[in-house]
Amino acid sequence: MSARSAPYLDELNPAQREAVEALDGPVLMLAGAGTGKTKALTTRIAHLLHSGKARPNEILAVTFTNKAAKEMKERVARLLGQPVEGMPWLGTFHAICVKLLRRHAELVGLKSNFTILDTDDQLRLLKQLIVAAGIDEKRWPPRALSSIIDNWKNRAWTPETLPAAETGAFDHHAPALYAAYQQRLRTLNAVDFGDLLLHVVTIFQKHDDVLEQYQRWFRYILVDEYQDTNVAQYLWLRLLAGGHKNICCVGDDDQSIYGWRGAEVGNILRFEKDFPGATVVRLEQNYRSTAHILAAASGVIEANQGRLGKTLWTAADGGEKVRLIGHWDGEEEARWIGDELEAMGQGTRGQRPIGLDECAILVRASHQMRAFEDRFLTIGLPYKVIGGPRFYERMEIRDAMAYFRLAVSTDDDLAFERIVNTPKRGLGDKAQQKIQVAARANGVSLVEGARILLAAKEISGKGAKSLAELLDGIERWHTAVLGAAQPVTDDDAVIEEGLFIAPRMPGGKPISHIELAEIILEESGYTAHWQNDKTPEAPGRLENLKELVKALESFENLQGFLEHVALIMDNESDDAEARVTLMTLHAAKGLEFPAVFLPGWEDGLFPSQRAMDESGLKGLEEERRLAYVGITRAEEVCTISFAANRRIYGQWQSALPSRFIDELPEAHVDVLTPPGLYGGGFGAAAQPVRSDLQEKASRADVYNSPGWKRMQARGQARGMSQPRETRNVVIDLDAVSSFGLGDRVFHKKFGYGAVTAIEGDKLEIAFERAGVKKVVAKFIVPAAN
Ligand code: ATP
Ligand code: MG
Repeated sequence: MSARSAPYLDELNPAQREAVEALDGPVLMLAGAGTGKTKALTTRIAHLLHSGKARPNEILAVTFTNKAAKEMKERVARLLGQPVEGMPWLGTFHAICVKLLRRHAELVGLKSNFTILDTDDQLRLLKQLIVAAGIDEKRWPPRALSSIIDNWKNRAWTPETLPAAETGAFDHHAPALYAAYQQRLRTLNAVDFGDLLLHVVTIFQKHDDVLEQYQRWFRYILVDEYQDTNVAQYLWLRLLAGGHKNICCVGDDDQSIYGWRGAEVGNILRFEKDFPGATVVRLEQNYRSTAHILAAASGVIEANQGRLGKTLWTAADGGEKVRLIGHWDGEEEARWIGDELEAMGQGTRGQRPIGLDECAILVRASHQMRAFEDRFLTIGLPYKVIGGPRFYERMEIRDAMAYFRLAVSTDDDLAFERIVNTPKRGLGDKAQQKIQVAARANGVSLVEGARILLAAKEISGKGAKSLAELLDGIERWHTAVLGAAQPVTDDDAVIEEGLFIAPRMPGGKPISHIELAEIILEESGYTAHWQNDKTPEAPGRLENLKELVKALESFENLQGFLEHVALIMDNESDDAEARVTLMTLHAAKGLEFPAVFLPGWEDGLFPSQRAMDESGLKGLEEERRLAYVGITRAEEVCTISFAANRRIYGQWQSALPSRFIDELPEAHVDVLTPPGLYGGGFGAAAQPVRSDLQEKASRADVYNSPGWKRMQARGQARGMSQPRETRNVVIDLDAVSSFGLGDRVFHKKFGYGAVTAIEGDKLEIAFERAGVKKVVAKFIVPAAN
């Protein structure tokens, strides 16, 4: 085939071309980020089709996400200059395995119309089995069992093939429970996610005829992101490739970031042994990033031991150095990035204008997104969250907000429906129906309906008890919210009349709405529900709940907060609008953006505390690979930032710059933080100093921004109140006092806070929990930072 008839080959360098043209036999493309692995893989598909080596449905192409599959199909079409019809076997491992399993379900004792269980169903099933086996489910929670079983499935171990070394798990109960679980799934004609691969591998292992049929059918196999395959996926591929041996895998050992989910980077290193005579192509030219970005990424990853080591170079000389900036706290970080995004859009930084859709913010943990979302919503900057719902749309946030809504209004039936059995209270569909009927018959809210039902003893047993507790709780919380409507006199400190109003628990002392929120989450059992949850997602959900409580701090009361959220949730921008992308580092694998922001580079956040606590380097090295993935997403501008303080539950915690920052090669980094009083290490050089004036200036920008005005107008049109700005005050700079602006102080009733204004002997203080108050200076003592 001549290059003339295959013009897409001209877009490749010689090494890529070799990988594309070596159509027959095993090929391994092992190369660093941005070297055109995915491009070569895609071109290979085009070439297979164009040269007539295979029909679309004879190609098996595995991608990491459905989105990547869709993009690959589009790119092939572009290369060929015509739409590609019928590539049924281009997709993720799971999507492809569902199709295979439907065809051969009977071979593993299922029917072809099997259902795929979600996590909830799976847990309910495991719980039944644990109880039936007479095991204490408190000590051996279903969640823990489910993650053991998932792990085994990732390693392709069935109950029959489970190695002896594994049998100790779950106090030796797990193997029998695993067998019982698989048996039960069969009876239900159901599978869980892990089964999709496991069953297909089992079928291939036990039924040569079926395996051979597919070995013949799939003439060419292509796999992207090979470094992140787990054992089951690896076996599956090796079995299928056993016939023609036309398998092409591409990957980068430095980007292996799914070890925690059972991925084995060893798979890529073993390729040449598994497929003797494989063509191994190394790509060294990076086409994505400028030289500084590439050098910074390489500098970081070099600290890992036991890597293959690769040469990477780029022809894109010059460009900007990686930018490093330290901030006072997380809010300031979000504010700065918001401003920066606007500046970049206008090209005011002296570069070409970079639009919002060319920018991405990549976070280590999804709870980091909240600060950005709030900021962007406030200034009306369009954004989208990829790979997960936006913060206020997350399940745990909606659950928690439903509790808050009920506390504010006990008539909120939708909120009641949402949480009546969350966490589980033994109030199933039947009980809920009864409540609905009682409410309708009496023309009252569900809460009232439930009360009537209880009084009439129409609900009994455990359900009745837990319902009574829930109703009591709702009443208590509601009374507490109402307490907020009555001003409480506070003779020793409060100057502004009626300023100090706080919720109070029945008969108790006044509490802040933040404390109330914490109490609600605790008393309802909702926090405990996630604390007892042993799935990998649970810690993230707890973090999100903490973030939610933190978000309350900028509001005067629960109601104002709920209105704010209702308002911003409605602030959807239209699809055609350019938006900045917010996503996790994990989700960003394989993607690229002209400008990338990497916030939150602090020890304990990135690298994560868990990785730091681990003995050995495994966890830490995986975090470092994640850092490498992050930096190498950037084409032109890469900005790393960290905050010196993060607020957790209203408490300031100071954070150290990430150890990865010290690993950045200085020659390729620009420290943007004004050089402060600090000596010492590289990270320390970027330590921020707080600038109140700067902050105020940028707040003024907010109020002048079109987004803010738009929102305000909409809010006013609906009679809604606006979120309160905690630090928006006029400062008389000539005031004399022993206290200075920004000083951290303590008040015996309101706790810790910072001085925001001084008027003679009166101070205005933004308390961390109690909000802004004016107090007489003599009641204030200085506090350590
Ligand atoms: P990652 O490891 O991050 O997945 P990758 O190796 O898959 O990266 P690609 O995404 O395929 O890299 O390519 C990176 C960028 O370089 C893309 O924008 C791609 O279009 C471009 N590119 C790849 N090869 C060439 C080439 N030979 N000439 C010009 N541009 C190229
Ligand atoms: Mg790629």
